[in-house]
Amino acid sequence: MNGYRARVDGSPPRVIVIGAGMAGLAAAWGLDRAGLRVLLLERGARAGGRTAARSEGGYAFEAAPVLLTRGDRRLHEWIESVGLRDELLPLRPLTTAIVHLGAVYDADVRHLLDVRRLRGVRLLHALRLARLPRLLARYAPMLDPESPERAAALDDRSLADFCRLYFGRSVLDGFVGPRATAIAAGDPETMSRVQFLLHMRRDALGRAGLLRAGLSELVERVAARLPVQFETGVETLEPLPQGALRATSVDGRTWCADAVVLATPAPEAARIAAPLLGYAERQQLRAVRYAALVSVVAALRRPLAAHPQQVLVSRSERSPLAAALLEPGVPGGRVPGGRGLVTLRSTEAFAASRFDAPSEALTKELIGAFDAIWPGALRAVEFSRAFRVSHSAPRFDVGRYRDIERFESIQAERRSAGRRLYFAGDYLVHPSPEGAVVSARRAAAAAAADLLP
Ligand SMILES: Cc1cc2nc3c(=O)[nH]c(=O)nc-3n(C[C@H](O)[C@H](O)[C@H](O)COP(=O)(O)OP(=O)(O)OC[C@H]3O[C@@H](n4cnc5c(N)ncnc54)[C@H](O)[C@@H]3O)c2cc1C
Repeated sequence: MNGYRARVDGSPPRVIVIGAGMAGLAAAWGLDRAGLRVLLLERGARAGGRTAARSEGGYAFEAAPVLLTRGDRRLHEWIESVGLRDELLPLRPLTTAIVHLGAVYDADVRHLLDVRRLRGVRLLHALRLARLPRLLARYAPMLDPESPERAAALDDRSLADFCRLYFGRSVLDGFVGPRATAIAAGDPETMSRVQFLLHMRRDALGRAGLLRAGLSELVERVAARLPVQFETGVETLEPLPQGALRATSVDGRTWCADAVVLATPAPEAARIAAPLLGYAERQQLRAVRYAALVSVVAALRRPLAAHPQQVLVSRSERSPLAAALLEPGVPGGRVPGGRGLVTLRSTEAFAASRFDAPSEALTKELIGAFDAIWPGALRAVEFSRAFRVSHSAPRFDVGRYRDIERFESIQAERRSAGRRLYFAGDYLVHPSPEGAVVSARRAAAAAAADLLP
């Protein structure tokens, strides 16, 4: 009989989940629902990981508020199953504007034909976008947002190369580029085209939106229902006889488990699980690259727009800003009624060159750049905060999906050899809470299949 299943006391096997970010919480939730005993170990004092917000003067300040679409299916399902539909959904829809030659104009695209109306996009190039649905149909068997490794064969060129080749440069600069940088960190020149194709397959041109309250509502509700041990940084994982695993914390405490889900960012996962990993998987985890992020969030005395709006800045503007998100307040929401909030996200180049600049300088530069685009914005600012995140979101550059395919195939081999270690995190699917939740569902399903009779 399988050593994991034959428990003398008849109790269900115990699974330790390391990390209580979106992936860890979703994995623990799934394992608990499957009837397994679960314990979450979290290094920080709170759950939520990178989505954590801080509250100031009635405003929820986040380095980058999470934008969702209806295509974020697993996150929506989870919100509903936790009983938070009324608090968080439906999404507050966002309109999109683009900055072109220093001016902001509405750029909502509901249909690919609308692209021809975008400024700077040449008609011939816009018409060539008719190729996109045909390409998506041809690639459909490989484009599964829940198994991104299936698209490995398409992971051979950057999004920028793909756009120039199939549609034309003006479509890249005026449509695809700004949209791609809005949905995921990274530069279209290095980003894999698969990331964009998967996005189009999942959401097509679905309108993005904001949760009515922040994701923190979900995080807190889930964490309150699960056994979470906070301020418990795990130092190492080791194998025990009979296939069990032992986790040791930084302060020397130990826990034994039948299985472990590692739901930390990739470099931390490589470090913690080093004694259990082969050379190739250790190298693959270490090779995951993360984008740095610099943003400034400003509380506003008055809203700048009547409805939530994202303002995308194309690269040709040579602005330090990549995007701005404008949120008018609503009673009971993330921003007080009658007030507003603007989140200014810098370009990657700005984040790289100004990462260590003093907060006052970053604030001045980014708010100044936005005021040039949106005159009067500066006067509405009540107070602001600068954020720097060295490892914000994993990059899905060319080659990443082939790496994921190799990693998943090693995981399948190790599982069949009896190792009960599973990985979850946005770096395995998509740099978003939805990506984290999808990866967690996969990890939890694999662990449950291995552990339960
Ligand atoms: C600045 C920023 C902007 C973003 N913008 C967007 C956006 O606009 N749209 C979008 O969809 N997504 C966005 N995201 C991405 C989204 O927030 C993440 O993809 C998702 O939350 C990642 O979840 P995770 O569980 O994989 O990782 P994490 O949130 O990093 O969770 C990992 C957890 O593991 C814990 N941990 C680490 N090491 C240990 C250890 N040794 N022992 C115990 N615990 C440990 C950490 O404390 C953390 O709680 C953004 C992220 C950031 C940072």
